[in-house]
Amino acid sequence: MTKAEVERLPMKQSVLKKLFAYSGNLCAMPDCNNALVSKKGTMIGKVAHIHAAKPGGARFDTAMSDEERRAFSNIFIVCGNCHDEIDDKENEGDFPAEMLRKIKEEHESIFVKAERKFISRYSDCTQSNDPKFPTHLQLLADVLDLPELVRAKDELEGIRSFIEKLAETPYSERDFALQIAQRMLRKGVEELPVEDVVSAFEMTPHALKETMRVLEHHQIGDIDDKWGDGTWIVQLWPRDPDGNPWFELIEFCKVQKLDPMEIIRSLDFSVYD
Ligand SMILES: [Zn+2]
Repeated sequence: MTKAEVERLPMKQSVLKKLFAYSGNLCAMPDCNNALVSKKGTMIGKVAHIHAAKPGGARFDTAMSDEERRAFSNIFIVCGNCHDEIDDKENEGDFPAEMLRKIKEEHESIFVKAERKFISRYSDCTQSNDPKFPTHLQLLADVLDLPELVRAKDELEGIRSFIEKLAETPYSERDFALQIAQRMLRKGVEELPVEDVVSAFEMTPHALKETMRVLEHHQIGDIDDKWGDGTWIVQLWPRDPDGNPWFELIEFCKVQKLDPMEIIRSLDFSVYD
C-alpha cells in the first residue's frame, strides 16, 4: 500500500468504551429517542462517522489522517435507522459535518457533566489524582512562542507550585477559576469587576464571596479593593516568577485542541513537555 492510500483503521476499544459511556444508551440524533441497546440486550446502535473513514463515503475529508478519522472526535453512536440515513452519501446535504459535530457534542456533554457530578459526589476529588508535573516545558514554550521557558528552573518551580495549589483546591472552585480566566481572556483583561462576575455567572454576591474565599485560601485568587476606592475586583493570582498560569493553560489547550477542564481535574501537566 502506498503512503497516500487511505486505510480504514479498526476502531480503538478505548474510544468505543468512552463513546458508549457518553451515549447514555440513547441515539444522539435530537429527534430520535431510540435506545442503543434493546431490553433483550441486542445492540441496535451503530458508530457513525462525521467524516467518512473511506473515500466516496459521506463528508469524506481528504485533509484528515486515518488516525483522525477513527478518533473520538470524529465518531458518535446513533441507532441503526439514523446511522443509515447519516451514512448515505445521497443525504450528505441534510447532514453537514458541522451540524453532526454539534449534535455529538451536545448529546455527550449531558453525560460527561453527569459523570463529573457523580464522581465528585462520592470521592474527595483533591485526593483522587496525583499531579503529573512537567519536566522541561518544551511544548508549552513552542506553543506560546516563549523559548525562554524551556528547562528554566524558576519557571518549572513556578508551574509546579501552581499545580500543587490546584491539587488541594476542590473541583467546583477549580472550574470556577477556569471560567473566570476564560472570561478575562475573551475580554482582554486581567481582572473583572465583582458586578460583572455576579451577573455573568448568575450568582449572588454572597456565593461569589464564598467561592473566592476558597480560592484565596488555596492562593489561587481573591476579591480585592484594588485602588482602595471601593471598586472591588475579582482576580487570579500570577505564578512565580511571573505570568498568568490560567491564560497559559487556556492558550496552550486551544492550540493543542485539549480541554483545559480535563487538565485541571486530572492534573496531568506533563502535556506541557
Ligand atoms: Zn436514531
